[in-house]
Amino acid sequence: MIYIDKPEIDADEWRDIVVQGQTLSADHLAKFDADQDFKINDTLYKRFMRYLLEIFGGKCAYCETRISSNQPGDVEHFRPKGRVVGDDFRPVQTLHPVKGTINHPGYFWLAYDWSNLLPSCIDCNRYRNHGIEDPQGAGKADRFPVKGSHVCAPQDLANEEPFLIDPTKIQPALHLEFHPDGTVSGKTEEGRRTIELFGLNMREGLVEARREAFQNADTFTVAHWNHVVTGFAAKIAEDEHRLNQIRSGRRPYAVMERLAVRVVNARIEAERQRAIQDF
Ligand SMILES: [Zn+2]
Repeated sequence: MIYIDKPEIDADEWRDIVVQGQTLSADHLAKFDADQDFKINDTLYKRFMRYLLEIFGGKCAYCETRISSNQPGDVEHFRPKGRVVGDDFRPVQTLHPVKGTINHPGYFWLAYDWSNLLPSCIDCNRYRNHGIEDPQGAGKADRFPVKGSHVCAPQDLANEEPFLIDPTKIQPALHLEFHPDGTVSGKTEEGRRTIELFGLNMREGLVEARREAFQNADTFTVAHWNHVVTGFAAKIAEDEHRLNQIRSGRRPYAVMERLAVRVVNARIEAERQRAIQDF
């Protein structure tokens, strides 16, 4: 997981979606207050996916797996739109200013809100079992752990503190530490809850893919420094292209590639210092 700058989109089609979303949100809020039924318009928020994939380099916001026809993805609502459940998958109760204590109806007014939408692979977004001999579940589904109580009105949102990391609002590196073997550990409660809920260490294929990304970037960085030392100009120019791609964060598991570059650079610097002292 890496931080992603998610700007507003400036396109004609975009204005159309925003206006429709605002109209529907106002409709849902009025109906909810009047105890009337309403239905989330799935077709509208799915139109956001094109923009989301463009901004996230075609990757899942949480685990950085490439979303493709082989690895399909969803538009993920950071705050669940239809209901909220706890770790036991039972409905979470909330105190509504007018209705009193109710089962949380979900953050339905954010169903079409750009700030609440992320691209996600299905392993992160849906709850599924992983592991064969010892099946364990992971995936977010309608879970949304917070510090204290969940709010259920737009004006109270600023008072709610999520445990999960939204990589467009929080720097994941403050909460998560990735390791060369592909595993990740939590530096904070937010980090630990995020790892557990999305199964970031539980999904073996994911850990393996992160380890491979680290090893490939490690090998590349060592080769790059050899090109620099030997003055191999053509290769150095090629390397720069890949280094820029790594810096951009648009490649799968960019967090591991950046880690590998830092680790190799530190190793080479330490060797250089030792060589100077020995001399
Ligand atoms: Zn994912």
